[in-house]
Amino acid sequence: MSEYQWPRDQFYRLRCEKAARSLQERGFSTIVAEDREDAAEQILAAIGAKDRVGIPGTVTVRELDLVRRLSARGNEVIEHWLPDASAEEVRRQRLGQLTSDVLLTSTNALTLEGELVNIDGTGNRVAAMVFGPQRVIVVAGANKIAHDIPEALERSKRIAGPINAMRLGLDKPCAKAGYCVECAPSTTICAITVIMERAPSDTDMLVVLVPEDLGY
Ligand code: SF4
Repeated sequence: MSEYQWPRDQFYRLRCEKAARSLQERGFSTIVAEDREDAAEQILAAIGAKDRVGIPGTVTVRELDLVRRLSARGNEVIEHWLPDASAEEVRRQRLGQLTSDVLLTSTNALTLEGELVNIDGTGNRVAAMVFGPQRVIVVAGANKIAHDIPEALERSKRIAGPINAMRLGLDKPCAKAGYCVECAPSTTICAITVIMERAPSDTDMLVVLVPEDLGY
């Protein structure tokens, strides 16, 4: 490891710890993991063997290999990133996520003050985060931590938006330019913005923070 790595690690850890304190004040439970493997193990431990787990569009969860690990140990995983799935099947899976026992997802951004910020195209991910599953687990790398809501909204559009447009192979201006051009409502994938200022009243929400880069 580079001799210059430790300040970056410390920077990330301090930001995770500050965000965790703020999230707790807003009704979220939190874990600050040691690293990505520790995060994956703590998430697996927090999910029951018989829980039906909804996993919406999230790169972070897949980077932690949790779709495979949950399926391998016998959990029913409800996801819609399925090769060759029909539109009807994708819709059925998305609806299934709304009634899963546990929703496992990430967030486009969160703030040092403990707010979660997400921008969706379809809306199934943010809908399930707000209401439906009794438990929601949000896992986020420290790269997702913004100073405040304006910075969180900016990162959601200026970083997550273009990279997701590229990942999906969409013909969007940001996918070609590499930055958000605030395209027209008729073309945008940034359709629905949800800011959680505290944990929803009827949902147990656990936020797992990882002092590493994860997701977009
Ligand atoms: S607003 Fe348009 S250009 Fe900006 S990230 Fe969203 S889809 Fe891309």
